[in-house]
Amino acid sequence: MKRVRIFLFILMTTAVSSAFAVSQPSIHFEVSFKEPQAHYVEITMKIENIQRDFIDVKMPVWTPGSYLVREYAKNVEGLVAFSGDHAPLATEKINKNTWRINSGKKSALTVQYRVYGFEVSVRTNFIDDSHAFLSPAGTFLYVDGFLELPVDVTILPYVSWSKISTGLDPVDGKPGTYHATDFDILFDSPIEVGNQDVFTFEAAGVLHEIAMVGGGNYDSDRLKKDCASIVEEATRIFGVNPNKRYVFIVHNYQSGGGGLEHLNSTVLGASRNGYQNERSYVGFLGLVAHEYFHLWHVKRLRPIELGPFDYDVENYTTSLWIMEGFTAYFDNLLLRRCGFLSENSYLQALGSDINTIENRAGNQVQSAASASFDAWIKYYRPDENSANTSISYYNKGALLALMLDLKILAATNGEKRLDDVLKAAYETFYVQQKRGFREQELQTLIEQIAGTSVSDIFDAAYTPGSLDYNRYLKAVGYEVIDYNEGRELPDLGITTSASDGRVLVTGVSRGTGAWDGGINVRDEIIAINGERLDANGKELNRVLQTAAIGDALQVLVARDGKIRELTITLTKDTRGSFGIIPLVNATPEQQRLGKIWIGGR
Ligand SMILES: [Zn+2]
Repeated sequence: MKRVRIFLFILMTTAVSSAFAVSQPSIHFEVSFKEPQAHYVEITMKIENIQRDFIDVKMPVWTPGSYLVREYAKNVEGLVAFSGDHAPLATEKINKNTWRINSGKKSALTVQYRVYGFEVSVRTNFIDDSHAFLSPAGTFLYVDGFLELPVDVTILPYVSWSKISTGLDPVDGKPGTYHATDFDILFDSPIEVGNQDVFTFEAAGVLHEIAMVGGGNYDSDRLKKDCASIVEEATRIFGVNPNKRYVFIVHNYQSGGGGLEHLNSTVLGASRNGYQNERSYVGFLGLVAHEYFHLWHVKRLRPIELGPFDYDVENYTTSLWIMEGFTAYFDNLLLRRCGFLSENSYLQALGSDINTIENRAGNQVQSAASASFDAWIKYYRPDENSANTSISYYNKGALLALMLDLKILAATNGEKRLDDVLKAAYETFYVQQKRGFREQELQTLIEQIAGTSVSDIFDAAYTPGSLDYNRYLKAVGYEVIDYNEGRELPDLGITTSASDGRVLVTGVSRGTGAWDGGINVRDEIIAINGERLDANGKELNRVLQTAAIGDALQVLVARDGKIRELTITLTKDTRGSFGIIPLVNATPEQQRLGKIWIGGR
């Protein structure tokens, strides 16, 4: 009796556990290409064991790292659904990015759809007869409420394509099949399919794969060596490199740039024939450094608002000045540490950020924190008035990072710097607490490391206006000077472009004569003081060079088919020309700290 009962018990547990295993929900995608020349990818989504009266499948409206609602669902067409026995299931679109499938509690269903992709960028699909780049948030539907499900993707390349490059884990024994532990991982793993040139290198104990799409005049040996230096230097900051494998997908265009960061991969845009030009090559390495740095800073160490993501709406954060700004500060610093930038070139790059911010009227209007919060409607949706109302949290954030780095260096006699903050923050928030940080917590951590308050710099992040660079730079033996100081030059206050032999206004700066006198963007400037302008701007420059502050100009413009004459009073050109130079009488201590700051290795 006893033995029988035990036997029954074992039988029951076995039955229960195997029934449980069978009923695990699962999702498998198949990706194929019937008409790549027409820019379509075909998707089959197999959903098992989600037994409901209906299920909603959704397409994200945005992709993390690029803070704009892109409405990926607009490219989806022909969505149909079937049950496991091939019976069609009724589907209905219930909002812009959601399809409701009346699945009638079926345990297996198949959803088929196609996605159009013809937008060249690092965060949108592009498919043609030569290759396909799939941005996963704009390709794969998810089942509402089931983002945490593991998912497999099988890619069937077009007949003339032979390679797949992605950070997704390949499934053993199933060529072309990849696994993601959940949909956050899937949405963070872009896929390149085609005939890309793939080469690998090892650095910081991680296997790195570079997939070159579109050809180019790159030297793969040099690229491997230089990228390896960047990997080693970046890893040195955080003390640990969390990946086993990392993939660079590089899109080479006639003229290209920009990048998007992911957990264990990145997508970079580059100019196909820019690799042999030293300036352009170092610019590319800067992009590599920037996106690589993000694998820690934003993909793992992150503000609390950025993950888990809501793929349905904007995800607001004030902290992009920390995530993008610090990254923009460290990308050039990494190039300096690797020896790709001389001290002079490094200072020039930093000076260029100062010029960009200080000469932009919007710097008096928008703070770095609000630029971050409003990235969705401002930074990613610029218009003709953006320069007057907004700034980039990249430039301003990089300059705030500079100030923090210098303040920590000065306060600790060169013992600590921003590197130490990031390493500690990564360890505390990502590794130990497994969560995002709040800005106040990061500030507290910085103050613990620096042994002094940094509220001056955090306050500056929330305040529009100029930054007091020299307060921080002097400690390391440098200063910002304005080469335009004392110059009395007139400024009309417009930017123009030449089109069809015409001079067209593209921008009007706040606080200038053009602003006060009513020149409009899109006005065609025909003549000034009775002199016909030529399209190349020479005549406009001549008029300005011979005029003085306070002069009144008669400006003849064409606006919407009508001629207007405007009187514009020239104001003083208030734009600076800023540069960072060594202090003339720097003390040995200032020089020592300066060497720690940017002395290179
Ligand atoms: Zn970035």
